[in-house]
Amino acid sequence: MNKLRSIDKEGRISLPEEVRQSLGVFEGDEFEVIADGINIVLVRYTATCIACDDDTDVQLLNKGFFCGECRDAINKTLYNAVSH
Ligand SMILES: [Zn+2]
Repeated sequence: MNKLRSIDKEGRISLPEEVRQSLGVFEGDEFEVIADGINIVLVRYTATCIACDDDTDVQLLNKGFFCGECRDAINKTLYNAVSH
């Protein structure tokens, strides 16, 4: 799994496909970049719901991350507000 990668002139580096597959890394996933001595460490950013702090099925909704349960609650509230 150790493969050399070069940084391009824009400062980007690609993650090997087998690393992405084995760790479940997908396009759009976010990582914190940490300088650790002479090494660079990528720490997976795990978003949590801003309403209940759950990290299950979290997705960006407008400008905040919400879990599936809270998104459903918001959608029901909006539906009820519009239909009444
Ligand atoms: Zn939630």
